[in-house]
Amino acid sequence: MIELSIVVPIYNEEGNIWPLHARVAAVMEQIRRPWELILVDDGSRDRSPEILEQVAAADAHVRVVRLRRNFGQSAALAAGFQVARGRIIITMDGDLQNDPADIPLLLRKLDEGYDVVSGWRRHRKDKLIIRKVPSWLANRLICSVTGVKLHDTGCALKAYRREIIDRMRLYGELHRFIPALSRIEEARIAEVPVRHHPRVSGKSKYNMTRTYKVIMDLLTLSLLLKYERNPLHFFGRVAVLCGVGGAAAAGVMIAKLVRESGDAAGLNILASLVFLLFAAGMQFILLGLVGKLIVALGDRSVPFRVVSRRGAGA
Ligand code: UDP
Ligand code: MG
Repeated sequence: MIELSIVVPIYNEEGNIWPLHARVAAVMEQIRRPWELILVDDGSRDRSPEILEQVAAADAHVRVVRLRRNFGQSAALAAGFQVARGRIIITMDGDLQNDPADIPLLLRKLDEGYDVVSGWRRHRKDKLIIRKVPSWLANRLICSVTGVKLHDTGCALKAYRREIIDRMRLYGELHRFIPALSRIEEARIAEVPVRHHPRVSGKSKYNMTRTYKVIMDLLTLSLLLKYERNPLHFFGRVAVLCGVGGAAAAGVMIAKLVRESGDAAGLNILASLVFLLFAAGMQFILLGLVGKLIVALGDRSVPFRVVSRRGAGA
């Protein structure tokens, strides 16, 4: 029986795979619990795929999953979760910015009875303006929207009890919201300070456009947290507001059109155009949210295949 599954997304990390494996293996040796390392190749275009195969061939603890193209970190994690067999699932980045030596800290906290333990990069080694500041802002926003108080929701190093993961559906940038999502399941969530290292090999895959994606996913999440079971409560309320507002505006406009003529009518047409555009804009936002809800209900697993079937216990 596998007890610990360590799931790591890999996208163009050729220089990091062997060192990562070595460090994980060294730590797991000390922990002495049956483990597996699931390396998910998220459609890498460097030498990562062949290196992954070599690592899997060299160590039976390693299993490699390959996504058919680059789907993003959340999808890669979701695929890894699907094949993970452990009672406990640990995630971390494949670029050695997280330290496998912190795994025992997370496990100790889980053993205290928590369901989710999240790492907190207290001394984060990333660029201040383009990474730390947006991340800090995003974190404040996420905390206030989700009500889950964490210092560092973006830290990839986390540990979960399997039941929490099994009920999670990940897509977009949602992996950073797993603790918040697990709130729906009434999970007990803890945070422990962990180490963080600068990236030595390869490049960061993210830039500022991610902040935008994160904010959009946050919007989805706030909807999910509040109205997951009955989206109509939300849309109904907005629809009623729109209806009342629209009726009032129409009434005023008709009254004006009846009383006045000439130029004023032209002005009113302009006014209704403005009104129409505002309403249409709102509709588009709501449509987007409805679409997101549908996505959340559907099956978002992405195509992948397990490259190496060997593994501890097998
Ligand atoms: N990653 C991935 N798919 C992607 C982008 C990133 O699997 O499309 C992986 C990447 O290989 C790394 C982790 O996600 O293991 C975090 O990525 P990165 O280090 O670039 O993010 P940062 O630390 O700069 O936030
Ligand atoms: Mg990184």
